[in-house]
Amino acid sequence: MRSTSRRDFLRTTAALGAILSLPGCGLGADDSTVRSGSFDGTVLIVGAGAAGMTAAHLLTRADVEVEILEAKATPGGRIAHDTDFVDFPISLGGEWIHVDPEILGEITDEPELAATTSLRAYAASDTWVAIDGGGVTSGNAGDDIDTDLKFVGSSWLGFFEDHVLPGIADRITHNTVVTSITDTGDGVEVLDADGITHLADRVIVTIPMFLLRAGAIAFDPPLPDSHLEALDRAEIWGGMKVFVEFSEPFFPTFFSPEISESGGQRLYYDAAYGQDSDHHVLGLFSVGGQAEPYQALDPGDELRDHVLAELDAVFDGAASRTYVQHISKNWSADPFAGAAYLADEADWRVAPDLAEPVTGRIDLAGCSYFPGGSDWSSVHTAARSARVVVDRMLS
Ligand SMILES: Cc1cc2nc3c(=O)[nH]c(=O)nc-3n(C[C@H](O)[C@H](O)[C@H](O)COP(=O)(O)OP(=O)(O)OC[C@H]3O[C@@H](n4cnc5c(N)ncnc54)[C@H](O)[C@@H]3O)c2cc1C
Repeated sequence: MRSTSRRDFLRTTAALGAILSLPGCGLGADDSTVRSGSFDGTVLIVGAGAAGMTAAHLLTRADVEVEILEAKATPGGRIAHDTDFVDFPISLGGEWIHVDPEILGEITDEPELAATTSLRAYAASDTWVAIDGGGVTSGNAGDDIDTDLKFVGSSWLGFFEDHVLPGIADRITHNTVVTSITDTGDGVEVLDADGITHLADRVIVTIPMFLLRAGAIAFDPPLPDSHLEALDRAEIWGGMKVFVEFSEPFFPTFFSPEISESGGQRLYYDAAYGQDSDHHVLGLFSVGGQAEPYQALDPGDELRDHVLAELDAVFDGAASRTYVQHISKNWSADPFAGAAYLADEADWRVAPDLAEPVTGRIDLAGCSYFPGGSDWSSVHTAARSARVVVDRMLS
C-alpha cells in the first residue's frame, strides 16, 4: 500500500536537493467500507468539492434522497482545473494522488478504476535542481523518488466528472451560498443568501475550515466548544499555484528555489510530466509564508516578471527567452476557500476533533475533518471523511 502524503512528496523531492526538512505524517485509517444499511430521510450537503461529491455519490447509491447546495457555478472546490490553458487539464489545487490508487475505487465503489485509470508515477531518471545557501545543485532522482501519481490527460476533477458527477449532477443546486444552519430538534433548516430555506433530516457541511472558523455559516445551536477550540488552534496555510508555459523545456522535473525563513512550502515542477502533449508547462506550488511573495503581486505582468526573474537567475535567462503564457490561482483570495488547507505542522488532534458530529443531525466532512490521525489536507482525506459520515448515517 502506498503510504505517502503531499508533505512526504515535497520532502522527498526537496531532499533531492537536501534543502527542506518537513515534518512526517502518518497515513489515516482506511475507512473504505460503507456498511450496508439504510437511512430513511433526506440529506442536504453543503459544498460540491471532493467531500460533498463523494458523500452525494455514496448516499445516492444507497438510495438516499440527496441535494447539494454549492456556492459556485461549477463543482470541484479545491480540485478546480483549467482546461483552456493547454491541451491537458491544469490542476489549480489538488493534483497528485498521495495514496494507493485504490482510493479511486473507494470513492466510487468501483474497485476496477484503480487499474483502469491512466496514471503516471515519477522515475529514478527524473531530474532536479535546487538552490541551497545560494549554491545550485542538481542531479537525478534515483531510487528514492517519491511514488505519488499524476493523472494522465485528466485531473482529480476530471476523475469526478467521469465517474461521480454523471450520477449526482442533477442533485447540485449551484450559486447557492449557505449562511445559517439550524437543528430544530426534529429536522434541519438551511438558509441561503437569497433568503430561501431548505429543509432536510440531516446535513453534511463540507465548507473549508478557514470559512468555518470565520463564521461564514451561523450554527444554531452553536458549534460545540470542542469544535470551536479545535478551530482556534488550527494553523491554516494560504496557498497559490502558478503555471507558466514555455516554448522550450529548459527546466528539470523538479526545481526547489532557495527556502525562505517564512515557513510553508514551495516547489516548481514539470506540470506536463507524463502527459501526451507538446506543451512545456512549469508549475509552482506554494503554501504558507512561501506563497505570500507571489500572492502580493498583481497576477498579470507583475507575477510573470517575478517568476521569470526567479527562473532566469538559475536557468541563464531561458525563462524570459521562451515564455509563452501563464495562469495562476490564489486560493487565499477565493471567497469560497479563503486559504489552502490545514498546515502540515498543525496540532494532529484538530482534524479528529472536528470529525465528531456537530449535533445528531449535522456533520462536517472534508479534508480537514477526518478522524484518521494526522493525515489531512488531501483529496483522499476529503473523500474518506465523507465515507466516515455516510457510514455513520447508514449504520
Ligand atoms: C494549492 C493546493 C494544492 C493541493 N495539492 C493537493 C494534491 O496534490 N493532492 C491532494 O490530494 N490534495 C491537494 N490539495 C488539497 C485538496 O485539494 C483538498 O484537500 C480537497 O480538494 C478539499 O476537498 P473538500 O471537499 O474538503 O473541500 P473543498 O474542495 O473546498 O469543497 C468545499 C465546497 O464548498 C463550497 N462552499 C464554500 N462555502 C460555501 C457556502 N457558504 N455555501 C455553499 N457552498 C460553499 C465551495 O465552493 C467548495 O466547492 C491541494 C490544495 C491546494 C489549495
